[in-house]
Amino acid sequence: MSFALHGLPVSRGIAIGHAHLVSHAVLEVTHYVLPKHLVHEEVARLDDALQATRQELLALREYRPQLAAAEFDAFLDLHLMILDDVHISSAAREMIQREHCNAEWALKTQMEELVAQFEAFEDAYLRERKTDVIQVVERILKTLSGHPGHVPPDSLREASLILVAHDVSPADLIQLKPNQFSAILTDLGGATSHTAIVARGLNKPCVVGLHHARELIKDNDLLIIDGEQGVVLVNPDKQLVAEYRLRQSQFDLERQKLKRLKSAHANTLDGTHVELHANIEMPNDLPEVKENGATGIGLFRSEFLFLNRDTLPDEEEQFAAYRSAVEGMDGLPVTIRTFDLGADKQMKQAVRVASNPALGLRAIRLCLAEPQLFRTQLRALLRASAYGNMKILVPMLSGLAEINQTLQFISQTKHELSAQGIAFDPNVPIGGMIEIPAAALSMSAFLKKLDFLSIGTNDLIQYTLAIDRTDEEVAHLYDPLHPSVLYLLAHVIGQANNANVPVSVCGEMAGELAYTRLLLGLGLRQFSMNPGQLLATKQRILTSSLPDIMPITQKILHSDDPLRMQELLAQLNA
Ligand code: PEP
Ligand code: MG
Repeated sequence: MSFALHGLPVSRGIAIGHAHLVSHAVLEVTHYVLPKHLVHEEVARLDDALQATRQELLALREYRPQLAAAEFDAFLDLHLMILDDVHISSAAREMIQREHCNAEWALKTQMEELVAQFEAFEDAYLRERKTDVIQVVERILKTLSGHPGHVPPDSLREASLILVAHDVSPADLIQLKPNQFSAILTDLGGATSHTAIVARGLNKPCVVGLHHARELIKDNDLLIIDGEQGVVLVNPDKQLVAEYRLRQSQFDLERQKLKRLKSAHANTLDGTHVELHANIEMPNDLPEVKENGATGIGLFRSEFLFLNRDTLPDEEEQFAAYRSAVEGMDGLPVTIRTFDLGADKQMKQAVRVASNPALGLRAIRLCLAEPQLFRTQLRALLRASAYGNMKILVPMLSGLAEINQTLQFISQTKHELSAQGIAFDPNVPIGGMIEIPAAALSMSAFLKKLDFLSIGTNDLIQYTLAIDRTDEEVAHLYDPLHPSVLYLLAHVIGQANNANVPVSVCGEMAGELAYTRLLLGLGLRQFSMNPGQLLATKQRILTSSLPDIMPITQKILHSDDPLRMQELLAQLNA
């Protein structure tokens, strides 16, 4: 059956490929009690699923990658062993017979018991094996649900797989980076959630907030993804596929053409220079930054170094990462943000998740509450500052008290390093993110105390409009054109420019072509964005004229009618 789904567009481009359901089946298991006469059948259903899963795992052997074949075999052996473990198969069978529950529930319950046992292991390697237990049970659950995991028919197919997930955490998504797949779809999430930001960084079409995609799409369904429109076509006919193949090649051609702008200066038609910097999550993102001609890193989200691991990165590891980013940029500025953990980026070590994490112990609040963690990072950052042009950026500051406390930490760390004879740049610029309304409305403290500012529109919009950026139910309320948001942006940029304090925007708004000219009109001269958006933004800047932009921007600022504002924006972008 063909049908279309609509979600929130995250990352441009067209993908055509087959669905690969990323299972979160475990979370979705319901419990029901069976009449006595059906218990026997339920046990048989479980046995059939176990048998089918075993066949699936054995079949996977045929498709093992040439590289890392030994690891792949070891992984399959382990999964086969877990599948046959009495704690899973026999215990689930007995539970169905004893409690007359459904097979899914029995499996989930046994899995939780086994996972708890693994979690109690002292050995980190053994503890990690709980993930394998979960993966095996998910595979069985998929089979029980009638959506068995499929085996890719050949290694080439991998490249066109489209991941379909109910939800993916930013931590999980970053691990997929080196993998081969062509697009990502999720039921949950807003377009500025960190999951969406990481997806954008992968430069693959991505649509989030699809609500029921994982339920409606089956493994192996043919899909067309239009990442610009947020549209997913399921099992389209041949004509549609041909049409989208054409669009896909046009899109690729456009991308190819943009590459010519790589070393062009980003100047407006009237000769005003604009700095175009890149946002990165890891130092290994640098090749893409260079390919897209960035003149610096405007935001290195250092917290990604802390995710997906059992132990925290120590000073040496952090130092090596920061140094490689700074050295890799050959003297161009590298702005490293102190870790913004909490909210939707939790360390495994986090002891508790706050009831409202976006308003909880996040970013600088967490740093100030965990001085040891913060000091370790500051030492690593300052040491790396000796190797190039580095700046330190502090997220989520709300006002003078936090600024002072932060600066005091930095100055103490500098004293400590000096006393130990360790080199660092004594003048390393310290900047603050403007991402909560309180910060935008207390600019004097920021301008007095800090060397530069960077506006995080993702959070600034989230906190101004009171919409959870990870919640697709309120994603339609995310509105960079809301008069309150525009007021804050104009205020911050204007005040910073008047005080000669450099200011940039590093939230997703900076890379949205619809807003490039508006931000220029507000006085912004430094943008930082996902590397994949840099060249298109440069093209937009090259065709923009400030004398034309300014009067229309003023009209937008003085309007409060959404329709009129959209009309004016269209005029600005004509
Ligand atoms: C922002 O809030 O706009 C920002 C750039 O920071 P992050 O997206 O990492 O919260
Ligand atoms: Mg932010």
